Amino acid sequence: MKKEDLINFKKRLEKERDDLEKMMAEFHKNVEFTDVLSEDEVADIFESTQAEEVLEENIKKRISKINLALKKIEEGSYGICEKCGQPIEKERLEVDPTSFFCSKHLNML
Ligand SMILES: [Zn+2]
Repeated sequence: MKKEDLINFKKRLEKERDDLEKMMAEFHKNVEFTDVLSEDEVADIFESTQAEEVLEENIKKRISKINLALKKIEEGSYGICEKCGQPIEKERLEVDPTSFFCSKHLNML
C-alpha cells in the first residue's frame, strides 16, 4: 500500500475514534441529571439508558477494532488479509477502514 493511502486511512480511523469517544462522553453527561426528575421521567430515562448501554457496547467494540487497525498501521501489517496474507482490496478499505480480510475470506468468520 502507498504511504499516502496509509496516512489517509490512519487519519480516518483516528477521526472516527475521536467522534465515538465524544459520543460516549455525552452519554455519561446525560445520566447525571436523573436526581432532579420525577419517577416517570426517571423510568423513561432508565429505558433510554438501557438502549444507550447497548449502543455504548457497540461503540466500545468499534473503538477496539479501530485501535487494532491503528496498531496494524504501526506494525506495517495494515491492509493485509489475516487469512491469506494477500493485500485487501483498497475499495473494501475505503468502505470500512477496519477490514481485516480480503473479499474472498470475509465470509469465513
Ligand atoms: Zn484473504
